[in-house]
Amino acid sequence: MIGQCRYLQAKSVHNVLTSATPRHAYQVASFSPTFPSRSFTTSRTARDDCTTSLIAPNGHSWSQPKGLFIRNEFVKSPLGETLESIDPATERPIISLHAAQSSDVDDAVNIAHKTFENTSWRDDDPIIRRDLLLCLANLVSDHAHTLATIETWDNGKPFSTALHEDIPDVIATLRYYAGWADKLNGSSFNVGPTKMAHTTREPVGVCGLITPFNYPLCSAVWKLAPALAAGNTVVVKPSEHTSLSTLYLAQLTRLAGFPDGVVSVLPGLGDQAGAALVSHPLVSKIAFTGSTSTAQSVMRLASGNLKRLTLETGGKSPLVVFEDAEVEQAVRWAHAGVMSNAGQICTSTARMLVHERVYDEFVNKLVEYTKQNNVVGSPWHAETTQGPQTTRSQYERILGMIESGRNEDAELAYQGPQYRSNPGSGFFIPPTIFTSIPDTSPLAQEEIFGPVAVICTPFTTDDEAVDRANNTRYGLGASVFTKDIARAHAVARRIKAGMVWINSSQDCDPRVPFGGVKMSGVGSELGEEGIKAYTVEKAVHVNLGMRL
Ligand code: NAD
Repeated sequence: MIGQCRYLQAKSVHNVLTSATPRHAYQVASFSPTFPSRSFTTSRTARDDCTTSLIAPNGHSWSQPKGLFIRNEFVKSPLGETLESIDPATERPIISLHAAQSSDVDDAVNIAHKTFENTSWRDDDPIIRRDLLLCLANLVSDHAHTLATIETWDNGKPFSTALHEDIPDVIATLRYYAGWADKLNGSSFNVGPTKMAHTTREPVGVCGLITPFNYPLCSAVWKLAPALAAGNTVVVKPSEHTSLSTLYLAQLTRLAGFPDGVVSVLPGLGDQAGAALVSHPLVSKIAFTGSTSTAQSVMRLASGNLKRLTLETGGKSPLVVFEDAEVEQAVRWAHAGVMSNAGQICTSTARMLVHERVYDEFVNKLVEYTKQNNVVGSPWHAETTQGPQTTRSQYERILGMIESGRNEDAELAYQGPQYRSNPGSGFFIPPTIFTSIPDTSPLAQEEIFGPVAVICTPFTTDDEAVDRANNTRYGLGASVFTKDIARAHAVARRIKAGMVWINSSQDCDPRVPFGGVKMSGVGSELGEEGIKAYTVEKAVHVNLGMRL
């Protein structure tokens, strides 16, 4: 079956042209040469301008793309604008990237549109898309060390986290949606003997995928995998702070054999490349992950041609601990829910509501657990659990929120030691735990997006816990800790959130939808809903004998 895949065959031609070494099972050398090879016309010089050899602090070296990925080539922006990628652990520059301008967005969208409309991509047997996604998953697996190294250097997350959590999530998501490619069926309807009616699921067209800085590769693949499985073409605009891993992924899509024009990646600024993509009339759908305020701009800009939208935005997710909970476990999950990824988690369950009877025990145990388990330091050290914040502006914002909390006389239960990689450098924030915070405090209402736990004043009844859990403009995640399964379900039903974890936190799975309500977003990613969001359901009415 793989031997019949046209694009995979074209890929083997591509491998010969680029002298890439076949590294996985799908790269079979005996493909027939009867399929047209794709053109790779960029000159050697242009190609050299668009890649750089890098050696990371862990000694790993690779060739890093730094151009715009359009027509399966890395190219410069003709206007010559660039972006700096900064190592957040040292504040030293890593690389200068070409930055897309609106004319580049226009170019990439036009080629994506032509590919969607004028080639067989969307109408080909879906097993081709399935095999390409499986091929890409295998390539990600083969290149896991490089991708994890890039993610750590550019984003600041510990290398072990990037390698053992982010990359497996990327691979699992690619494989999951590969499985969906040939299972996007419509429905048929019982409309009587003289008529037949059925629906088909069709791709929407060119999809603009806009991602944030906290999970660069995962958030790109959560969008790209279902979009491609459904037969769309995509233009990805990664965060200007963390574009490197998505550019490397683009190279892997080429190596996997995705045809020209199916995938474009445009590093660039949000208010330039991002806004141009969202407002482009040939883009049919925007899938966006980022802050709520940016999502509001995206919604406005996308209204020009009534684009379909999936918006994954901010949160202030509650973690509710009832008096019958297993406190030790609640503490461990609470810690994971606020301190992992340096607290840069959209679903961070950092707003903690604890029953008065277990309040002191929970606070004391959380402080102790954090002291023992939060190792802030170089993301390259094996024992580090918390690296730097990804950007200076986030770092300063979080420090400002901690400072204003202290000025408001908020009770500070714990603040870890300050870590610096070199004298005076690195965006490291000590893990911080506030207690007895009133629900009205900005600490309890605003997304902090850092390693800061906010334990609110204690509650006494279930109704109070639910009311206070819902006392936020957001509605992304929530955690509920209790041994009483009936209470757990009753509370889960009443919490206004896209996801509720019972006796855990942040426990996501590609098979289960992920999304928010209220100001936390529109629509879902992952699961069946996640791929249906990249399709249009078309109704077909067939006359079997009705005559006028
Ligand atoms: P951000 O809103 O600053 O940027 C997100 C992306 O939008 C970036 O690629 C940026 O360049 C782009 N952008 C900025 N202005 C734009 C515009 N006018 N038009 C189009 N695109 C534009 O967010 P961030 O700081 O990168 O990420 C942190 C935020 O993301 C947090 O609020 C977090 O909660 C949220 N987030 C949400 C989820 C979720 O699934 N709900 C997941 C991760 C992060």
